[in-house]
Amino acid sequence: MTIPPANSAANGPAHNAAISPELVAAAQTSKAWPFEEARRLLKRFPQGKRGPDGALVPVLFETGYGPSGLPHIGTFQEVLRTTLVRRAYEVLTAGANGRGHPTRLIAFSDDMDGLRKVPDNVPNGAVLAAHLGHPLSRIPDPFGCCASFAAHNNALLCAFLDRFCFDYAFVSASESYDSGAFDAALRGVLRHFDAIMAIMLPTLREERRKTYAPVLPISPASGQVLQVPVSVVDAEAGLVRFVDDGREITHCVFGGAAKLQWKVDWGMRWTALGVDYEMCGKDLTDSHLYSGRIAQVLGGRRPEGLIYELFLDENGEKISKSKGNGLTIDQWLAYGGEESLGFYLFREPKSAKSLHVRVVPRAVDDYWQFREKLPTQPIEQQLGNPVWHLLRANGGDAVGGDALPVTYGLLLNLVGVLGAGATRAQVWSYLGNYIADADPEKHPHLDRLVTAALAYNRDHIAPTLKRRAPAAQEAAALVALDAALGDAGEVATPEALQNLVYAIGKDEAFGFATLRDWFRALYETLLGSSQGPRMGSFIALYGVANTRRLIAEALAAA
Ligand SMILES: [Zn+2]
Repeated sequence: MTIPPANSAANGPAHNAAISPELVAAAQTSKAWPFEEARRLLKRFPQGKRGPDGALVPVLFETGYGPSGLPHIGTFQEVLRTTLVRRAYEVLTAGANGRGHPTRLIAFSDDMDGLRKVPDNVPNGAVLAAHLGHPLSRIPDPFGCCASFAAHNNALLCAFLDRFCFDYAFVSASESYDSGAFDAALRGVLRHFDAIMAIMLPTLREERRKTYAPVLPISPASGQVLQVPVSVVDAEAGLVRFVDDGREITHCVFGGAAKLQWKVDWGMRWTALGVDYEMCGKDLTDSHLYSGRIAQVLGGRRPEGLIYELFLDENGEKISKSKGNGLTIDQWLAYGGEESLGFYLFREPKSAKSLHVRVVPRAVDDYWQFREKLPTQPIEQQLGNPVWHLLRANGGDAVGGDALPVTYGLLLNLVGVLGAGATRAQVWSYLGNYIADADPEKHPHLDRLVTAALAYNRDHIAPTLKRRAPAAQEAAALVALDAALGDAGEVATPEALQNLVYAIGKDEAFGFATLRDWFRALYETLLGSSQGPRMGSFIALYGVANTRRLIAEALAAA
């Protein structure tokens, strides 16, 4: 079947710069996981993927989407990671013209699935309740704006993917079934009905075996997707027999009158579309295996693909959308932005990752560290730098080298002392103490992080901050620090201020066993937190006079 052209993102797909022979050579031995994955595709197609006439045809990457809910962080990670493998394959196959072999990514929506239950986050639940069991694509849109419930959710998926400028082609299961595009593959399933049953039956429990069929006819009587025993009458004509509404009927499965059971559907789709690469979560390991066997029976081939670990919440439990643990993508974007999310998802896809708000600040600062050092790295190391992959994901170039003038951690400390009511303008006025051209227009990345820091502080830090009173020896050290700051004045550099703080911590007169104890005392009495920034940088940013005021407040509580 033919696949529609890619949706173009708002500003049109960009193109990566020409791929140099040095880059191709380095990619061949790179241990970065996108290259390891892409090399499996090289083995799959030693001469490149070619059509019947011998010409190169696109290697097909697929990501799947169940359109009964909103796109979420899992949707993003799968499309992003698949895109990174796609780009890596293009690098590995680049020829003298600096371009890789053709590739396509399809975002496939399982919108022919029957509605299992009425989601509680949707209006007009009665509309949905009246259509339980019907294909999502044949249920009216409860929001009242689209042709069907599935169309509504599909539009949300595309808007979501376009927001991140992903290059993909959207394919709908119901359109593929309804148009007859899957008819030939359905015929194959009926021809090989017994072989498919032989793969599937041993995987099912006794009860389920009695009703299982690879084909799910759609009842002409009720419009529901039926889970009933089915026998094949005539595979070539697409005819099957089953009991519908108490009556045995013969029914043609073509043209949207049936869909396939999940694992069969997946294997059929791989075969019909010619999918070469699809990753999936660990929970689908078995599906991937059995769907692969079914694809083989149908004359296709199981795609290559990474099996990634699932996300855990802060208690180390699996994230479940229904339990509402974990973190939503909008939360991450609000507290850290897209780059840090991509960075967090890039690393170690085969290890379980915790997904909760407290991982965000570190991911932001790590992302920028890797971005800053990218151009100074030799090419082999660049290929292992997550930022190299992320910058190229949607057609950009892996330049990097720019840096945040203030770390996100320091920004959070500043906003922390300013309190939950701090404003963007206020933060920028403090940034003037620290950077020469403190203008949001000149630092758009930093400006977005200022907004993010305000939100993160308001929601997650401010409620936890509680300054404690200094002990007697800590109070004496604070008095000394105040005096030293008075002598230093506002023009002191962060380094000079840091040295001055060190000197007091090391002074035996104040009795700190380690410098660490002194810093903890500063954090706990001035900032209300057990951890904190490099104090010299903080004082330079917050201002010497303001810091002296914080010290005075702490001393007043002693
Ligand atoms: Zn709608």
